[in-house]
Amino acid sequence: MYKDLRTLCSTRKLLQEKEIKAFEVVQECLDNIKQTEPGIRAMLSIREEQALEQAREMDRQGPDRDRPLWGIPMTIKDVICTRDTPTTCGSRLLENFTPGYDAPLVQRLRQAGAIILGKTNMDEFAMGSSTENSALQTTRNPWDPSRVPGGSSGGSAASMAAAQSLGSIGTDTGGSIRQPASFCGVVGMKPTYGRVSRYGLVAFGSSLDQAGPMTSSVPDSAAILNVISGHDPLDSTSSTAPVPDYLSALEKRKDLRGLRIGLPRQFWEKKTSPEVDAACQKALEAVREAGAETVPADLPHAEHGGAAYYIIAMAEASSNMARYDGVRYGYRDPEALELMDMYRRTRSRALGEEVQRRIMIGTYVLSAGYYDAYFKKAAQVRRLIHQDFMRAFKDCDLLCSPVVPHTAFRLGDKVDDPLQMYLMDIFTASVNLAGLPGISIPAGTGDETGLPVGIQLMGPAFGDELLLQAANILEQSLPALPFPPAGQ
Ligand code: GLN
Repeated sequence: MYKDLRTLCSTRKLLQEKEIKAFEVVQECLDNIKQTEPGIRAMLSIREEQALEQAREMDRQGPDRDRPLWGIPMTIKDVICTRDTPTTCGSRLLENFTPGYDAPLVQRLRQAGAIILGKTNMDEFAMGSSTENSALQTTRNPWDPSRVPGGSSGGSAASMAAAQSLGSIGTDTGGSIRQPASFCGVVGMKPTYGRVSRYGLVAFGSSLDQAGPMTSSVPDSAAILNVISGHDPLDSTSSTAPVPDYLSALEKRKDLRGLRIGLPRQFWEKKTSPEVDAACQKALEAVREAGAETVPADLPHAEHGGAAYYIIAMAEASSNMARYDGVRYGYRDPEALELMDMYRRTRSRALGEEVQRRIMIGTYVLSAGYYDAYFKKAAQVRRLIHQDFMRAFKDCDLLCSPVVPHTAFRLGDKVDDPLQMYLMDIFTASVNLAGLPGISIPAGTGDETGLPVGIQLMGPAFGDELLLQAANILEQSLPALPFPPAGQ
């Protein structure tokens, strides 16, 4: 029975037509959570009673056509503030922190009728690529429990792959929506910077962070983006650009004819695993069969994207993390003797190794003696990368590349080697540096491991509509993935 309910859009139709009750949909998701959660541990909190009660109440009132997510169960990455559930950021420091308000994007989801089922696990403060940096629990990949789900939105990705809800919200600073989506075989979209309000999204790299949908299909992502997009007076970087109807836009494009899709040389020349290579080549064939022309593209500075990203993200993180001083939020060390001692004990006890490493490197690259050599240089490289993309988009409508050089790796494989972990973002981070939209959709599974492989499409700023249209066609042209073992 669940199979028919798998997508948000098909369920929405059934709900609106009263073919099914919100209560039943919520109950099915909760049953799936009960069945799969012991094996994958994707959720940090579950609002079982509240969600069922809310669904009951909604059923009493009947479906509301003006609320596009009426009765749809969703989950939210635990870096986004929710007033009635803790928002831990996967950290000991915020383990018992419940914000006094909903992030505007959560408010919008609730107003649209979504039922929040709970919060998903993540790398501490969204710093990582495997969710192993969560201080609270280890999430496993539903395709193979010995492997990571990717990160930092690994909880959302694993949860979607196991059909625990009909849509999830992740965040992407350097790849954290697209990379776990690729590892878990789901769709993950990072919208244009400024498209979705960042207010109430706990900051990591403020000039890079963006929230976006993680779903089982492209139309589902479009339906969610419709709701969460738009200007927010509380976020001065949110855009006032009008929000198109992303979902109905999908019907306007039936193929990829007339589109030029650029293949950035610097990304396709990078070594990827044979499985990733094979799946991406098949995806390119599908792109061409759907009528698009694939053309070579050049992003001459993109190979420095990873280095520039890690300097800028760490610099911004070191400054953003200053607020966790034991005074204002969360954990305060009880044994401190005086103020400096309290700061030191609080931060060294409650923050994990990776977060501390980033605070130190970030502080270093911003320090008076090294600012010019590191931060300023990285900011200049960022501008060059931005210009590379602008130039490429003069020549083509969209760009296409792999998402990650290989499929999901085993738990423990890279956790002691930060540099290896940082290489997870070589195909994704440049998009964040340039503020552009990007989407990962499943391209197939590897012949050898059976693990999912994603393919990435990237668009010009505020080209989210075209990006979703093209992703939708490509998704229809590619083979549907089977259900992962832990999702059955
Ligand atoms: N893996 C990258 C990092 O560790 C990206 C994280 C993210 O996008 N939040 O910084």
